[in-house]
Amino acid sequence: MHSFTYSANAARVIFGYDSLSRIGEEIERLGCTRVMVLSTSGHRPHAERVAGVLGSIAKGIFDRAVMHVPIETALAARAEARRIEADGIVAIGGGSTVGLAKAIALETALPIVAIPTTYAGSEATPIYGLTEGGIKRTGRDAKVLPKTIIYDPSLTLELPPLLSIASAMNAIAHAAEGLYAADRNPVTDLMAVEGIRAIAAAMPKIAVHSQDRDARSDCLYGAWLCGTVLGSVAMALHHKLCHAIGGAFGLPHAETHSCLLPHTLACNASCATEAMRAIARAIGRPSAASGLYDLASESGAALSLREIGLREDQIDRAVDLALASPYPNPRPLEREALRSLLVSAWTGERPSD
Ligand code: NAD
Repeated sequence: MHSFTYSANAARVIFGYDSLSRIGEEIERLGCTRVMVLSTSGHRPHAERVAGVLGSIAKGIFDRAVMHVPIETALAARAEARRIEADGIVAIGGGSTVGLAKAIALETALPIVAIPTTYAGSEATPIYGLTEGGIKRTGRDAKVLPKTIIYDPSLTLELPPLLSIASAMNAIAHAAEGLYAADRNPVTDLMAVEGIRAIAAAMPKIAVHSQDRDARSDCLYGAWLCGTVLGSVAMALHHKLCHAIGGAFGLPHAETHSCLLPHTLACNASCATEAMRAIARAIGRPSAASGLYDLASESGAALSLREIGLREDQIDRAVDLALASPYPNPRPLEREALRSLLVSAWTGERPSD
């Protein structure tokens, strides 16, 4: 065994159907008595359900969470938290809602209980993001790591199948890059492989029957593991590229990950052979990049950046953005290789690896 460093991001995890009903005891455990509940406007009924279970200790609902945490939204949510003298936050929703809770906690250190409804994995990380003047700044701070996560798969039954598949690919991306991260360790490797295995087995079942309770549960379990990997080790080319082009061109988050992942893995394949073998084994296919492409394709996912809104004339700008700030990656980043990766992802052709 080689030397390694492993820092656990400790959170309490409550997993299972109907675990939402345990929100009251979990809030009590944290000693909170004045709770603010967050959601998007579309999912306000979820927030109302949480407030209903909490009763009089739910002091307010803030239902204005939106993608990428605009600073204006964060300021408004922080002001509301102050106004109602909140001593705890419950975020029910996807990465956008959990991200808003983190923006509040970054300033106030209020404890967060996260109740995720997608597979994005933000609930398992100390990473926050805030968008100001069109630029998303991200950072790490232990204050923003949720204290408790309640994973209730019943909340994901209504996640539309195509969004579910894209979100599942988003989760796999965390684990896939975790397997070749410069600072990976045996524990994150275990979580990554098991997370990919659970999600890859569940995806085709969710694609044909979105109400499959076992598959939903397996996928959410995998998303937790993959999110934990994201929170523990450094991401590389794939995440940097998604971040850069998703933000600059307003592409949908999960779908961007889903379209790019087979191509970023194909690009890194020759410099991360051990990781590729582990991914291929976990998905039960002969190879990682084309195997994930086939899995996404068979599950009905969007396969090209073209169909999710990137224009061909934006590819060169995307390459510039991806090269703008250097970061560790198994394969040294070169303009031509990046351009070819983006052209393949734009057309959505099957990668060869
Ligand atoms: P999201 O929260 O915006 O949700 C995506 C869409 O799914 C929305 O339209 C939402 O209304 C809908 N939705 C969510 N749950 C649903 C449900 N159960 N049923 C039906 N519809 C549902 O997006 P996301 O993909 O969950 O998260 C993406 C955001 O999170 C991005 O801003 C990304 O940067 C951030 N993120 C951050 C981290 C981190 O560690 N900080 C990790 C992953 C993602």
